[in-house]
Amino acid sequence: MPALPLRKPLIGITVNRDYHRGRFWIPSTYCARIEDAGALPLLLPPLPAAAAAGLLHPLSGLLLSGGGDIAPLYYGEEPAPGLGEVDAERDAWEMALLREALAKGVPILGICRGLQLLNVALGGTLRGVPGGPGRLQHCQRAPRRHPSHTVEILPGTHLASILGEGCLAVNSFHHQAPAAIAPALREAALSPDGLNEALESSAHRFLIGVQWHPESLPHPSSVLLFRAFVEAAANPAGAPGSAGVEPSGPP
Ligand code: MN
Repeated sequence: MPALPLRKPLIGITVNRDYHRGRFWIPSTYCARIEDAGALPLLLPPLPAAAAAGLLHPLSGLLLSGGGDIAPLYYGEEPAPGLGEVDAERDAWEMALLREALAKGVPILGICRGLQLLNVALGGTLRGVPGGPGRLQHCQRAPRRHPSHTVEILPGTHLASILGEGCLAVNSFHHQAPAAIAPALREAALSPDGLNEALESSAHRFLIGVQWHPESLPHPSSVLLFRAFVEAAANPAGAPGSAGVEPSGPP
C-alpha cells in the first residue's frame, strides 16, 4: 500500500462579499502566502453562525482577512461620517468562526479588518484614523506591494519574537484603528502617530492581528509571519490553548 502524503495543515481564510453582485472574492495573495508557508488554504464564505463549528472542525488555523469596516453597533457606537462599507452578516459570521477557533485553540491571524474584528469580538472598540498635523496617511495611494509608513514592533511581544523588535516599514490601507484595546489583547506594534498597528494575546499560543497587509508586501517579515502562523498550526501538541481569551459576543 503506498504511503499517504504528509497531511498539510488546512487554514481557513474568510472572504469578502460583493453584496450587490452576489459574489465572494478575495485577493489570491492570501492563498499564495499560505501555500508558500506549507499549508493549504480553504476559503470560508459567510454562512449562518451555526455553520461555524462544522467548518472549523477540519481546520488547523483561522486567517481573518482584510475587507470592509466593522459595523459600529458591534462595539456600541453609531456610524461616524467616515465609516466605509459594512456587512454586519460577515461580521457576525467571522465572530462565530473566531469563537470556535478560540474554543478549539487553533492559531488565529488577523489582517487589517481581521485585527479590527479580533479587537471588537473580544470587547474592544474602533475609531476613525484621525487627520491633522502630525498624522500619517494610513490609506496609502502607493501600490499595495510598497511599504508606506513605519511601525515600531514592541519588545517582549510574540510579534517581536517572530519579526524582531524595532522599526518595520509596512503598507497601510485602513481608515479605522483600535481605540479601546480588548482586555484579552495587548499592543504589539505602534505607528509613529500612535495607532495600534498590531495586537496579540499572551494567553493564546498564536493570536496575532496586524493592521498592515503582509500578504501583499513582498518583504522577509511577511514570510516570517506566515511561516510562524503555519508552523503553529502544524504543531498543536503541548499547546496551552486559549485559556483566558473569551469573546464578548455580539450584542
Ligand atoms: Mn497604518
